[in-house]
Amino acid sequence: MTDCLFCKMVSGEITPDTVYENDDVLAFRDINPQAPTHILVIPKHHIATINDLSDEVGTLIGKMFLAVKDIAEKEGLSERGYRTVMNCNADAGQTVFHIHLHLMGGRAMSWPPG
Ligand code: 5GP
Ligand code: ZN
Repeated sequence: MTDCLFCKMVSGEITPDTVYENDDVLAFRDINPQAPTHILVIPKHHIATINDLSDEVGTLIGKMFLAVKDIAEKEGLSERGYRTVMNCNADAGQTVFHIHLHLMGGRAMSWPPG
């Protein structure tokens, strides 16, 4: 996906503030953080939205959460807690159409979200 912002980060065309990487997953700090720690975890494989998931790529979601677990530990968030969010399409406010998990922590959060 040549015109996808997050694919450009995977390919190295754009260099994000990377905090974690393995064969399947890349994680970097959000450019507009909504919490003291706000990290985006993405699959290296392009998937536009949750609606585009299939059995072949579904295992990537588990790998993204395993990355979240490791990053949260490294960032000192595990004990206090943190929030993960994956927005899908317009009503949820998705703006980048390459699936990503928001990992936010470092402050107490309210529920329900807006
Ligand atoms: P969404 O609204 O699609 O769930 O989340 C997209 C996220 O990507 C937003 O939190 C936004 O701040 C972040 N974002 C957009 N452009 C960039 C960028 O160029 N670099 C980084 N690191 N984050 C970005
Ligand atoms: Zn992409």
